[in-house]
Amino acid sequence: MNFHLWSPMLIVYCVLLVLTCLIGDHLPRMNHVGPYINRHLLLRVAIDNFTHGIIGFLSWAIVLDLDLLDTDSNTPPVMFHPSSGFVPTRSLVDAQQRNLLACLFCMLLAMSVDVDHFLAARSFSLQDALSLPSRPPFHCTTLIPVVVASSLLMTYAFHSRQFCRCFKFSLLFLTACLSHHIRDARRHGLWLWPFGATPPLPYMVYILCTLLLPVAVKFCHNTLFIENQPTHQGSVQIL
Ligand SMILES: [Zn+2]
Repeated sequence: MNFHLWSPMLIVYCVLLVLTCLIGDHLPRMNHVGPYINRHLLLRVAIDNFTHGIIGFLSWAIVLDLDLLDTDSNTPPVMFHPSSGFVPTRSLVDAQQRNLLACLFCMLLAMSVDVDHFLAARSFSLQDALSLPSRPPFHCTTLIPVVVASSLLMTYAFHSRQFCRCFKFSLLFLTACLSHHIRDARRHGLWLWPFGATPPLPYMVYILCTLLLPVAVKFCHNTLFIENQPTHQGSVQIL
């Protein structure tokens, strides 16, 4: 049985994932730029949120095996034919371009988790958003399986033909939100309401979990969506 977990891009994305974590986490503590970043709260928050986004992007790139150097992408979308005029040679948005859009969507979703700071503070002020008495709701990790299971049950019950698409979206949602929660957990632990919270994750555990999450999701994704479609390997479309 071959689940197509391995690909040359997997190593590239895993290295980029670790580098993103290290740079995003340590930039505010570096000698030359650290003091400047810490003097500007907006810049510090923007770097932190962008790091969440890049981790979300790379995580979904691992799941989809995103290959931006795919030669098919260089094919012109239309060709001129003397009798027919311009005729399409391939879909205007090919599979890898759709995968890229899906990765960007995962990035936005991972970044948008922090919106709840402003919602809970009922203010656009960064100071208010960062001085909440408790953790805001989108940071509750137990919500992720509840949201995923509810959406799948509702889709299965009312729109069974959309089930596969909904399941793919659920995997994307899980990847985006859980990667964000894992990174936050290095400082605050995972919030597992109503059971409490874990202690803060040791740094190596956080890095390991960040790497294992997309690989586990990729295994699940490929088992369900590629193993039974051998003619579409490497061109899985999502969203
Ligand atoms: Zn957060």
